[in-house]
Amino acid sequence: MTGGNPTTLYDVVVVGGGLHGLSAALHLARGGARVGLLERAWIGRHASGASAAGVRTLGRPIAELPISLEAMAMWHDIRGLVDDDCGFHMHGQIKVAENASELAGLRQRDEQLRALGYRHEEIVDAQELRRLLPPIAPHCVGAAVARDNGAADPHRTLQAFRRSAEAAGVAIYEGCGVERVESVAERWRLCGSRATVEAPVVVNAAGAWAGRLAALFGDGVPLGTKASMMIVTERVAPYIAPVVSCAGRALSFKQTDRGTLLIGGGVQGRFDLQAEKTTVDFVALRRAAQAAIALFPSVVGVAMTRVWAGLEAKTEDLLPVIGPSPSAPGLLHAFGFSGHGFQLVPVVGAIIAELAASGSTTRQIAPFALERLTVKEAAA
Ligand SMILES: Cc1cc2nc3c(=O)[nH]c(=O)nc-3n(C[C@H](O)[C@H](O)[C@H](O)COP(=O)(O)OP(=O)(O)OC[C@H]3O[C@@H](n4cnc5c(N)ncnc54)[C@H](O)[C@@H]3O)c2cc1C
Repeated sequence: MTGGNPTTLYDVVVVGGGLHGLSAALHLARGGARVGLLERAWIGRHASGASAAGVRTLGRPIAELPISLEAMAMWHDIRGLVDDDCGFHMHGQIKVAENASELAGLRQRDEQLRALGYRHEEIVDAQELRRLLPPIAPHCVGAAVARDNGAADPHRTLQAFRRSAEAAGVAIYEGCGVERVESVAERWRLCGSRATVEAPVVVNAAGAWAGRLAALFGDGVPLGTKASMMIVTERVAPYIAPVVSCAGRALSFKQTDRGTLLIGGGVQGRFDLQAEKTTVDFVALRRAAQAAIALFPSVVGVAMTRVWAGLEAKTEDLLPVIGPSPSAPGLLHAFGFSGHGFQLVPVVGAIIAELAASGSTTRQIAPFALERLTVKEAAA
């Protein structure tokens, strides 16, 4: 007994019940590990439940492309992983250029991708853009398109990953924040608010609080926070199918299966990490609404029904941290997705399971090492 709670032993303990924690737990349990998952609030309480759930390789940082393309293939067979389609539709993603210089920027990236052997993006002219997006504003001149991209339903995805993880034997403890960590006989003891667990391997999937959790193990992580905001509107008649972003403005715009329009794109709200709370900044949010109207003038007058902001961790180079701790044996990190981690969920769980089982991975994760952030900070 520790702190009044009996101690339960696992092979791996995952901290964080967002999609990355669930995916890691699922892959680990399918590989034969006994897995406990500790979540301070409830499954999907933070970024994963607030997500726009865009499933996008379009415009991804080059370093993320190998794992992002693998994740995309997994999304196309997501039922094979979690026995549910997660509301995923392959309607494509489109990044619109509003003028010649934005289009030149998109062409430059396209050339860079092609030189590296990537073929998943293409440039389309104004005529094809209008065929793909009939209500687009007349001034738009072209776009970058990834036709096999799309979007999913974040809540359905959470339910599917949770169901599959539990079916594979994962024990989920909700309302159980990890507050203290001790090293005991080659294992880590994690003292949560309503359970004490021990395991030789721990996965840090604590989202916006991953830096705080890492500090309990002795890892210093320079980490920022994002509080991206979203708008959802009343239902409208079928309007567009693909997910739309914009080369020159912060915008993501799509129509859900239910007919509502979902508008975001990274406009930031306010946050209090200690209180785990966000506040919508309506002045900033106006920019997202204005961007939507600039690209789709006919949405003027559509009523907003709800707005929200979701919390997650942001790294300096906007790449995630995926891989072993440099200082705490058995600690594996998966956080810092910087506003675009939803698409990576299936593959990052597989990587974590591979690392836990064998200590290495065949995937290209060197750009995501924690050391790239800590070494830079130490030198500054
Ligand atoms: C508004 C918004 C829109 C987005 N849109 C997209 C998109 O279109 N496409 C895309 O790819 N990505 C998108 N993202 C990003 C994506 O949603 C996130 O990268 C992803 O959901 C992160 O999942 P996670 O499991 O790492 O974090 P989270 O879902 O935040 O889960 C972390 C969990 O850890 C728990 N926790 C923290 N500390 C502790 C502790 N000490 N003990 C126990 N539990 C703890 C928290 O309570 C939390 O539930 C968006 C994000 C937001 C906020």
